[in-house]
This record gives sequence, C-alpha cells and structure tokens, in this order.
Amino acid sequence: MRIDGLHRFVSGSSDATLLTLAAILFSAPPALAEPVPGSLPAQWNIGAEDCTASPEPPLQVHTYEPQTFILRQSPCATFEANFIYLLIGSDKALLIDTGAVADPQAMPLAKTVLELLPDKDDKKLPLLVAHTHRHLDHRAGDAQFASLPSVQVVPYDLDGLRAFFGFTNWPNGIAHIDLGGRTVDVIPTPGHNQTHVAFYDDRTGILFSGDFLLPGRLLIEDAGGYRESAVRVVDFLKARPLTHILGGHIELNAAGRAYRFGSHYHPDEHRLELARADLTALPPAVQRFNGFYARYPNYILTNPIHNILALLSAVLVVLSLAVFGLYRLWRRRRRRRT
Ligand SMILES: [Zn+2]
Ligand SMILES: [Zn+2]
Repeated sequence: MRIDGLHRFVSGSSDATLLTLAAILFSAPPALAEPVPGSLPAQWNIGAEDCTASPEPPLQVHTYEPQTFILRQSPCATFEANFIYLLIGSDKALLIDTGAVADPQAMPLAKTVLELLPDKDDKKLPLLVAHTHRHLDHRAGDAQFASLPSVQVVPYDLDGLRAFFGFTNWPNGIAHIDLGGRTVDVIPTPGHNQTHVAFYDDRTGILFSGDFLLPGRLLIEDAGGYRESAVRVVDFLKARPLTHILGGHIELNAAGRAYRFGSHYHPDEHRLELARADLTALPPAVQRFNGFYARYPNYILTNPIHNILALLSAVLVVLSLAVFGLYRLWRRRRRRRT
C-alpha cells in the first residue's frame, strides 16, 4: 500500500521533487528497522522449597529495555509463576496477560504496572490490557484494572476478542495494535485453547507466545488447529526479525525435565527465551504427535485429556482383572468345599 502510494506520487512529480524524494528515500532507515536490543536475566525468581521460611516478593520486575518490562509472578505466590509483559509506546501501553492471582494484596499487579507507566499530558499513558488466551492463570488479575481510568481490557471470550481486534476470518488474518511508534501484531494461534493469540512486537522483535510455545508442557487441546497455528506463525515471521520467543511460564529445569505439577520451587530453571529453531521444529513435532506425550529439548507435547482417559482405561482394566481373579478364586474354593 505504502509503495503503491509512493509510486503514484512519483509518477506525477517534477524532476526536482524526484531528486528530493530520492535523497529522502536513500537516507531513510529500512522498512524493517533493527530491533531495539534488551537484556534477559539468566535466572528468574525461582520460588523456594519452603516459601514461608524464605518468602519472595510476589512480583519480579525486569526492565528488558526502557520501554519493555517483564513481570514474573513468584512461584511462591502461584505455582503457575506467570510471565506478564508491559510494552510502552508513545501514545499507549499494552499489558499482555494479568497472571494467576486476583487478590491485589497478595499480588499488587495493577499498582506495579501503574508505577511503571509514564505520564503523558499530565496523565498516565492509556493502557490496553490483552490476553494470550482465556485460561484463568492469564486473566485472574483483570479485576484489578476494571475500574481504573484510561484502562481498556480486551474481552477474553472468542466472540468478544474477534470483534475487538476485527478478525473477520478467524483464525486467519493479523490484527495490529498501534501503540505510537510501535506496532504489535496479533496472530491467532488456537490449539492450546480456541482463544489463543500470540503478539509480535516490531520494536524489540519479540514474539510473546503465551502457552502456545514455552519451555514447559505444551498442552494440546486440538492438534490440527495447533499445527496450523504453528505454520501460521512460522510463515508470519519468515521475513521479520525475531530476537526471542517469550512464553507465559517456565516448567522445565535446565536439563529439560519438567517440575512436578503444582511445585512452588523451580531449582535450576530453564531459560525463559526460546529461539526461531524451537518454532520451526513445532509444526513437524505436532504433526508427529502420538496424542499422549512427546519430549523435545525445550518443550514437552502432551494432551492431558488423552492421558487422563488412558489412565482411567488402565485403572478399569486392572480393576476388571482383579474382580475376575477374585471371582475365580471364590469359585475354586466353593468347588473344593462341595
Ligand atoms: Zn493455558
Ligand atoms: Zn498458562
């Protein structure tokens, strides 16, 4: 669109204008500017074996670069230990997810976010609160933002979210959030949950991937949808810089072993950031998925419903065999008596 417009402008211009325009074009930065660099800690707050004896602050705030903040909910405050992201533009800020804890006393999320927001025209910068998906651990903190001025919370149900972002052909199409000098693309990624989206930030070149891709268990609800989402994101990022993939949780240790479900302690935690190679390996991994469990170096594919059903079937088989065995024993004894 921009190029067509420019072409039309050039066709009707004088030579002098053309020369001026050429000078501007050659001195202008490339369309895909280099991402703004940032830093990530090698280790986040990892909770504790005994959280009462050695408590941690509920929220860890890390400045990736001056306009990008990463907030980590302490594993002591919630075993989900969510990562929440705050992106600041010149007109607006975006908060991705509100985490697993509702109580503002236990988890002062809104207070912390407001303190990080800069002022504009003597007021706090307007804030948009969006979610990677509707699971409660990604939106429990919504209520803390509900009554704040200049804060808009995106609906988390599928119809509401589609209408808000203007998706007319879900899960196809990309929506854009203009924060002022910074655009965040919203990419539909259903498969873990039907409302899942990923966010791509053109300032930092980071993909915020929620539960779609993270160093932990990728819980697959709909394998076909998941694979299509993975292909969609791979295609979207083909011609774009990608610095990091940052998800919603860390559930593995550095050796790739998963922590016990519900654990408040993450010793020797895996790094949060994943790379393009982890993403490109995802479509074939989901394609090959046996429907139960598959381990890769940086994530585990699993379908909890299938695993529960398999476990229930195994329990039923064992119970049936036990009942049958007891019945035969009882018959043998009866025969012996008569
Ligand atoms: Zn989830
Ligand atoms: Zn989650």
